[in-house]
Amino acid sequence: MEGIETKAFAHVSLKSPSGLFYFLAKFPEKCIFRFQQADAARTIPEKAMLKTVKVSTNRKTGPIAVTYRSGEHNVFGTCPKTCGLNPAGEHSAGLVDSPYLAAIVDSVPRGGLAWTYSHFALKLLPKPQAGKTVINASCDTEAQAVQAVKAGYPATLAASPDSAEQWPKIIDGVRFARCPAELSESFTCDDCGGDRPLCARGDRDYVIVFVGHGTGAKLVGADESGGCYGAQGFVRMVWNNTKKTGARDDAKTVKAFAESLPMGSKLRHHIVGDVGLAQS
Ligand code: SF4
Repeated sequence: MEGIETKAFAHVSLKSPSGLFYFLAKFPEKCIFRFQQADAARTIPEKAMLKTVKVSTNRKTGPIAVTYRSGEHNVFGTCPKTCGLNPAGEHSAGLVDSPYLAAIVDSVPRGGLAWTYSHFALKLLPKPQAGKTVINASCDTEAQAVQAVKAGYPATLAASPDSAEQWPKIIDGVRFARCPAELSESFTCDDCGGDRPLCARGDRDYVIVFVGHGTGAKLVGADESGGCYGAQGFVRMVWNNTKKTGARDDAKTVKAFAESLPMGSKLRHHIVGDVGLAQS
């Protein structure tokens, strides 16, 4: 139609540039298009922020090195959507941040130990290796924890406050015992296991149980999402601060941090946060 402008309206995802060229080639010159991004393409990738602390003042860890990991806009941004303790599921991570995961696995202080916990699915987590960071499988049910141990992962269980008197016990041949720091106000991760804290033992064949406590604890082990101990109090305050002032290049930062620690240091990655690809 020579001389006549034809209006066409289309939704074109910027994630498929080849589709865009194909689309344009089908129309004659002088067509006017209004492009609108598809919802998926409009999602702006979130940055992960990492706070490093050489000597923690956290009551439970004691004076060891620790990190906090957060999304840039949402503290739960690096936590998996699927975590039963996460009250912000839809704003959390669906994928593991592979370069960051590789970085923390290698981020062990010289002559020392490093460990962390992840709520991502077992198949996405590396099994323990000598000289590397131990990644504990954080489980929401006894059955998940048994499965993790039988599959060769060190596991922890977030248990409901009602269960406090039940432990220790053996379930399906696997021993479950409470974290000793929950049983004594003056006991810390720094005191735990002699020179080898229980959570840093990748070859562990028993489950460490954390009984929910504090505000929101009633949600631990319940059907409703929520109950993360980092959602309130002092930990939440530091986590919020991580969001604002943490380092943006988390993979590089965590490696440099581990290298900077004194020989033989203990490093707990992620007082809060996980290995997810950050999402707001
Ligand atoms: S089991 Fe030991 S290392 Fe693990 S959280 Fe409790 S005190 Fe810390």
